[in-house]
Amino acid sequence: MSKKHVFQFLDLPRQMPQRIPLELRTAGDWGELYGRFGREEAQYQAGRCLDCGNPYCSWKCPVHNAIPQWLQLVQENRIEEAAALCHSTNPLPEVCGRVCPQDRLCEGACTLEPFGAVTIGAVEKFITDTALANGWRPDLSDVVPTGKRVAVIGAGPAGLGCADRLARAGVQAVVFDRYEQIGGLLQFGIPSFKLDKSVIARRREVLEGMGVAFCLGVEIGRDVTLPQLLDEYDAVFVGTGAYRYTDGGLAGQDLDGVLPALPFLVQNGRIVGGNDPWGRPIAGWEDRIQLPDLAGLRVVVLGGGDTGMDCVRSAIRLGAARVTCAYRRDEANMPGSAREVANAREEGVRFLFNRQPLAIEGDADGKVVGVRVVETRLGEPDEHGRQRAEPVEGSESLLEADVVIIAFGFSPSVPRWLAEAGVEATPNGRVVAGGDERLPYQTTHPKLFAGGDCVRGADLVVTAVAEGRDAAASIAHWLRIPG
Ligand code: FAD
Ligand code: SF4
Repeated sequence: MSKKHVFQFLDLPRQMPQRIPLELRTAGDWGELYGRFGREEAQYQAGRCLDCGNPYCSWKCPVHNAIPQWLQLVQENRIEEAAALCHSTNPLPEVCGRVCPQDRLCEGACTLEPFGAVTIGAVEKFITDTALANGWRPDLSDVVPTGKRVAVIGAGPAGLGCADRLARAGVQAVVFDRYEQIGGLLQFGIPSFKLDKSVIARRREVLEGMGVAFCLGVEIGRDVTLPQLLDEYDAVFVGTGAYRYTDGGLAGQDLDGVLPALPFLVQNGRIVGGNDPWGRPIAGWEDRIQLPDLAGLRVVVLGGGDTGMDCVRSAIRLGAARVTCAYRRDEANMPGSAREVANAREEGVRFLFNRQPLAIEGDADGKVVGVRVVETRLGEPDEHGRQRAEPVEGSESLLEADVVIIAFGFSPSVPRWLAEAGVEATPNGRVVAGGDERLPYQTTHPKLFAGGDCVRGADLVVTAVAEGRDAAASIAHWLRIPG
């Protein structure tokens, strides 16, 4: 690489890795949209970092990655050291590099943003993928076993983040999940065009190499009770996610052709996922189930968040003739990542903003025919500071559809077994963890800690990872393990 000069960022434009050509995506290719940087490309992009002295990128990153430092290591081709540094703050760097909404986080805060932010996420993916492919693994040779054992309920990003840090503290982490695969929504929600499932299989191998044990296909409260775990382990971490549908309460939502978002995405994940990093099928994926056949159909997706974007882009890959996303506010207020919206638009998705669904309509046979919507205008802010969508009188119309997918989002609900243990929850179902005189992430039961979507409400992979990581530090402190 030529020597860096201070205006290098002007000579070298921001570039993302190459994407799968549009014609393949719209013809049903489910591969990860973005490819990988080669070494030179990663070095050039890393070399755009100004090392500005105020690393807003690190502050905006929920795990506070040492971004300028690992960008420097990439420039010097010290990839394994960069990987170790990435892992020192982030237990799942290759996952976050792929799925974080970087435009709202690290890259949105980059000083170079007006000229094109440094492609931080893509470099993070490059570092971890390269190091792991070359056989690099986290070095736990200095870790002294403490003899302590902690049960982790949920193998999603929160549970995995917690297990990683417990292993580094010399604690035996045993992770329970009701499914046969690890990853939670990484495995069963996020489609493979954003996150190839082999990435999760490789992370499992890494964690097992660190001494983390998995008990999969085991549901707490059904196969094993919480009192059993509390008896057997020194502490328990709860990372059970948020799976209660936000119900729009729309008339007609039981009609034939109306699908809830998550089962729709799970079906697609099952059919296209399922190879480990060496191309072998992952056990448990053999029971492939029938994909919904959308060929030639008109699909309407209700909701403008990440889940909605995953649904519209999955429908395109399933051959739908027309895919429309209807959202009740304007584009600027849409919760979905701007990058995902742009990708969806490029793949042919039509967006109808300022449309509020009133009811789903069907024919005499109970089959959906469309969604009755009303136009909206933005009014006064609600209790969260977001402008309310107010219906415009006389603007109702029917949006014709053969399939309607409801993607209004999710919220947590406290399982009965957790409530029975005396764990306090908020009225909207979030586990109360931390604050007051308690340790961060400790619940109202001293031996139980919690983090991720079950505490925050449905949020992001990286925030769940951050909470799992920090809950492990709290657990270690509570167990009086020297830091
Ligand atoms: P989860 O990932 O939900 O994991 C919880 C785990 O707990 C599950 O595996 C579940 O099986 C297990 N579990 C629950 N109860 C029990 C029990 N009783 N016994 C045993 N196991 C149990 N975030 C992003 O940052 N970027 C994205 O692009 C993105 N896309 C998304 C797309 C979709 C469709 C959805 C639904 C979410 C998306 N998110 C995205 C959000 C992100 O996936 C979640 O915020 C994150 O997975 C939360 O992690 P978690 O560990 O708290 O919960
Ligand atoms: Fe950016 Fe997410 Fe990586 Fe943090 S973890 S640097 S927010 S991509």
